[in-house]
This record gives sequence, C-alpha cells and structure tokens, in this order.
Amino acid sequence: MNPLSLQNGIIYGPVRSRRLGCSLGVNLLPCDYKLCSFDCIYCHYGRTEVKAPSPSREHFPGVRDVLAALERTLRQRRDFETITFSGNGEPTLHPDFAELASEARRLRDRYAPAAKLALLSNSSTAHRPDIREALGQFDLPIMKLDAGDSGTLARVNRPAAQVGLDDMVGALSQIPHLTVQSVIVAGHLGNADEEVLERWLAALARIGPREVQIYSSDRPVAETGVERVPPPVLQQLAERVRSRVRAGASAYWCET
Ligand code: SF4
Repeated sequence: MNPLSLQNGIIYGPVRSRRLGCSLGVNLLPCDYKLCSFDCIYCHYGRTEVKAPSPSREHFPGVRDVLAALERTLRQRRDFETITFSGNGEPTLHPDFAELASEARRLRDRYAPAAKLALLSNSSTAHRPDIREALGQFDLPIMKLDAGDSGTLARVNRPAAQVGLDDMVGALSQIPHLTVQSVIVAGHLGNADEEVLERWLAALARIGPREVQIYSSDRPVAETGVERVPPPVLQQLAERVRSRVRAGASAYWCET
C-alpha cells in the first residue's frame, strides 16, 4: 500500500478529524520529505527520510513564513473548530517551536477565538524544559505513548537514538491536563500482546493523563507484520484504561 501524500504547504485542510472535528493543519516541517524523531511502523506517511532528535534549522520553514501563512488563512476563513500543529513529522523539532506556539495563540485569539489550538506530538522532546513550557500555549496538547517498555518503543516507534522511554514518561507525568494518544497495532511487530499492554497501562498510570485516545491503523501500511486491532478490542482497552489509570479513555476508528 502506498503511503499518504505529504502535506505540500504550511497550511492545509481543514480536514475532518476523528478527534479534533474540523481541523486546520499547520505543517512546521519540510513539504517534500518526512522529518521526524520517530519512524513508526504504522506511519501513513511511509518511512522517515530524515530521522533526528534535533535537526538543523535549514530543514524548516522560517517563523515569518509560517506566521504570514497562518494569518493570511485566518483572515479568510472560519470553517474550522481547531488549529492543529501537526504535518509531515514531529512539530516540536522546529527550532523556533516556542515562538511559533505563542504567536499562533496570539493569532488565534485575534482572528478565531472560538477555535482550539491543538498539538499532535510524539513526546520525544517533552523532557526539554523549553518545550514543556511551550506546551502551555495549547488548549489540547496531545502526546503520543505507544509503549511502556524500551523494547516496544524501539520496535514500534523506531526512535532516533537519543530518545528514551524513561525521559518521555517522566516528562509527560509533569504536564497538566494532558491527553495521551496511543496507537495499538497487532502483528509480530505490534504492541498488542498482553504483557506489552500491561507495561503500557503501568506507564499511563505513572503519567496520570486527563484523557487517553486509543486507535489502531485504519488503513494498510507498507510495513509487513503490522495489523489492525478491531474496534471491539480497542473499546475493551479503553475500559481497562478507565478502571486502571482512572483517566477518561475513548477508542477511535474509521469504518472500513
Ligand atoms: S511520530 Fe507521527 S509522523 Fe513521526 S513516524 Fe510516528 S506516526 Fe509518523
């Protein structure tokens, strides 16, 4: 199965999102390749072409270009419920992420005060104090956690070498009002085995999020050994999160 096309601009959508409603996307990453600190086995954008924990500045659009594109769009349209930092990889890797977050909030307040400002992040930079502070600009910081042990993190998310699970879990536990997003996939590369899920539940309990969003891969991915977890199993997992972690939990899927 071919991967999805990359976003070819800074602003994209609005797109209908299972979790965010009608979402205007902001891509802080390059337009012609995927740049991420992870290379997840289920990523719908295909393999990560540049995998690095702190890539150099020349990969990214400039602050002025991002803010001009966002302001131009916000002046013209109101047909969205959420402004979401996401795009062709991991948004927090942008070297000016903190400035972009605070300026995007200012623009949101000015032009679209009813819209929520959201972030989809893989959590790999959450241990950095500057990133944790910048997360405070978002109404909905949604942070990834697919694993509760280092072996599963390595197999499922294939992180850049410097990214460690203990750092991630410790950092996420310090973020108030956190939403965690978790992708659970079956198959020999996946994270759906019972012992693996138990360690994931233990990590979630340590983090103490407000909410956990659970989903699987709804479309086939290029990687063999990755299979969809059916919706009833995702719903059972959500129930386990509610009782074990004492967090809100929902399962999301697309009808196929
Ligand atoms: S963190 Fe997101 S963008 Fe990066 S490889 Fe994983 S799914 Fe793809």
